[in-house]
Amino acid sequence: MQYKAFILKYTEIALKGKNRGFFEQALLKQIRRQLSACAGSFQVTHTGGRVYVAGEEFDFDETVAALKRVFGVTAICPAVTFQRDGNGKLPDIDALSALAVSFLGELYPSLQTQTEDDTQRTFKVKCRRVDKTYPLTSMETDAHIGEQLLTAYPGLKVDVHRPEILLQIELREQVNIYAETIKGPGGMPVGTSGKAVLLLSGGIDSPVAGYLTAKRGVQLEAVYFHAPPYTSERAKQKVKDLAKIIASYTGGVRLHVVNFTDIQMYIYETCPHDELTVIMRRYMMRIAEQIALDAEAHGLVTGESIAQVASQTMQALVVTNEVVTQLPVYRPLAAFDKQEIIEISEAIGAFEISTLPYEDCCTIFVAKHPVTRPRAEVIRKHEELLSEKIDTLVREAMDGKEVIEVTA
Ligand code: ATP
Ligand code: MG
Repeated sequence: MQYKAFILKYTEIALKGKNRGFFEQALLKQIRRQLSACAGSFQVTHTGGRVYVAGEEFDFDETVAALKRVFGVTAICPAVTFQRDGNGKLPDIDALSALAVSFLGELYPSLQTQTEDDTQRTFKVKCRRVDKTYPLTSMETDAHIGEQLLTAYPGLKVDVHRPEILLQIELREQVNIYAETIKGPGGMPVGTSGKAVLLLSGGIDSPVAGYLTAKRGVQLEAVYFHAPPYTSERAKQKVKDLAKIIASYTGGVRLHVVNFTDIQMYIYETCPHDELTVIMRRYMMRIAEQIALDAEAHGLVTGESIAQVASQTMQALVVTNEVVTQLPVYRPLAAFDKQEIIEISEAIGAFEISTLPYEDCCTIFVAKHPVTRPRAEVIRKHEELLSEKIDTLVREAMDGKEVIEVTA
């Protein structure tokens, strides 16, 4: 099938009332940005709650893959289009029926040889008559085209309730015909929901948490706590690659790489080892909040999931959470099972990178029996042992952080 266009649908944005224009403009911007990286040329327009992408010399698979990375798009319908004739007229009903017959025959070649005795395929024709000057009503058009299809293909049978094939015909400036729907990612266009800072490790969870948050229209910056020489350059590269996956949806991610070695060593030397992870996590959160405030972000995002590991029991989360004082901490995976997280990780292409076996700064110093029910007052008391020196180390880590602009 030689597709010429895509009709893109969106639903949640359509509900936005007065702000609808703002969301639609953001959506168009994201669609154009994704398409600008594809071969071919595209014209993106927007009418009546749909986005219409007309393309020339494009690669179908590449273009669909790009459109599937636009948050806000719920459905991608590849379409063929027919222009008006020289007098500005749309095809008459017989010409339209002929177009429908050849379109379905090409899309489902088996129809051409199928007989009434084979298992029949159900279908329905649905016409949208946007050009109200078209001489037949939508229902008349549906009925006429439906009849012509039944005559042409004995393997077809009408089912108006749950058809296998829904042939849609739009009579607009031009005629659009389509019957396939590819699922879009849904969500809200990037940039319509403010900004958040994602704590991005090299693991499976945090990239998924970032993806889900970005899908709500949130622009992300990321922070990675690096502990050289205990964590290698390859571990850092892995985090950059994961940031790149998120950037393939959002356009770009600013990645802050914070050298955490001295802080981690000092906590290790000073505090009880079974509390090490919790205290380390508190310092990560403090630093991340500072980065977020500097970036004028509206929240932090982590990949924590209730009860997944010792540092993510509800008691541990209370203790980790209390050091973040000004911003909300979003934990989109709080209620997800590991398997559900892995499925998303695989779907976005992160899983292979996340499971590369490079060391993680949290696991290197991890205690054999970490506390699973830390008490805030005890942890606070042990943190006091760190005295002012920890503030100096935190300041040095902030001053020395590396900022990498990761692009799609
Ligand atoms: P992940 O799979 O995301 O690494 P995890 O199950 O290994 O998560 P933890 O190591 O306890 O869990 O980390 C919990 C969360 O803390 C992570 O999801 C991430 O948001 C953040 N985090 C942990 N380590 C780092 C790090 N080195 N740099 C940045 N963020 C981190
Ligand atoms: Mg981890």
